[in-house]
Amino acid sequence: MPLLKSWIDSANTAVCPFPLNNLPYGVFSTDSTPPRCGVAIGDMILDLSLLEEQRLIEVNYEEVFEVPFWNEFIELGPRAWADLRARLTDLLIEGGDDALAANSELCARALVAQKDATMHLPIVVAEYTDFYAGRNHAFNVGSMFRGPENALPPNWLHIPIGYNGRASTVVVSGTDIHRPLGQLKPAGAEAPVFGPSRRLDIELEMGAIVGTGNKMGQPVTVAEADAMIFGYVILNDWSARDIQAWEYQPLGPFQAKAFATSISPWIVTAAALGPFRTPTPPREVELLPYLQEPAPMLYDIDLEVRLRPAGGTRATLLSHTNYNEMYYSAAQQLAHHASSGCEMNTGDLLGSGTISGPTKDTRGSLLELSWGGKEPLTLDSGEIRTFLEDGDTAILSGHAQGDGYRVGFGDCTGTILPAVTPPDWTK
Ligand code: CA
Repeated sequence: MPLLKSWIDSANTAVCPFPLNNLPYGVFSTDSTPPRCGVAIGDMILDLSLLEEQRLIEVNYEEVFEVPFWNEFIELGPRAWADLRARLTDLLIEGGDDALAANSELCARALVAQKDATMHLPIVVAEYTDFYAGRNHAFNVGSMFRGPENALPPNWLHIPIGYNGRASTVVVSGTDIHRPLGQLKPAGAEAPVFGPSRRLDIELEMGAIVGTGNKMGQPVTVAEADAMIFGYVILNDWSARDIQAWEYQPLGPFQAKAFATSISPWIVTAAALGPFRTPTPPREVELLPYLQEPAPMLYDIDLEVRLRPAGGTRATLLSHTNYNEMYYSAAQQLAHHASSGCEMNTGDLLGSGTISGPTKDTRGSLLELSWGGKEPLTLDSGEIRTFLEDGDTAILSGHAQGDGYRVGFGDCTGTILPAVTPPDWTK
């Protein structure tokens, strides 16, 4: 599909992340408007609550956009999702319905410059599950912990492994993250101590947002799961490796991951990503029928990780990889999640697992990039890193590349603040 040309000129360049082909959904506020739903177009945000008020978007529902989350709209289901996308395309395309384009008074109120807006979490996250579905990441981490012969656990090629994370600490890009406190056991120490993590890490992931749920007790097929997914965000699964190493056996990560998860501000819909579908890599062993992919359900999305130290003006490119490296698609993960009868709901967030490619410069975590801290990285500023230092800003970004245009997500960033002062434990 070629670039769809909009009458908003800034949407028509080859490098704009938000052309008319994208239409990603977010929640924004300005000095004069409280948080509400908007769609990114070029360098602007279109205020959907004003279009709703003016009856320019009427698709068998009303009053779902003057709220600080997309959940109410998402709950309306796939027909409403398609209707809104079609209507917005008609209002914004060159030569389309000019009900907005010809109304300069409304344009002046409803189109807000992105640089003047503050972005908020786009959904109320119902529940958050994180997977471990990247083949290279699982092999790298397993090699460090158990040696290359035993790198992949025996279940890995049969099950998209996951754990139930915390929705309460999912935050929007730009939110500062305090270095977590926790129980850790330094190498050679006989007993654990409590203190700030010294091995604080990022994990480059994609997040899938569940649009429609299933009933408790009712599994779904992979094809049904694919249709249940509303859209995708870039996700940083912040990880405290020293807390994780001490706590993770036998039930998996707990406090090492519970303190924060960051997502990019714009939900790129599955509809916008349609032209970029790609199959998962060849199966090394045949999957059970309930997990087999009936059509390409992964996406070709270029991803990058950058790091900017405190006071730095430029960020160092640490990694460049692609979502197509994943062994399991989000649809397979969702089908597996519901397979026991687990109820999934609108607003559930599924982390893909860390996305690492096969080479060193395509690894999606510092644990892998510095090989457990043994191979320090040199930033463009000359500073050395193994894990994150206070003041570091991680910048995760990505886009799907079309013919003369790109579908972007907006950056997923976060800056590390020093650990908080703990309470006086003796009181
Ligand atoms: Ca993860």
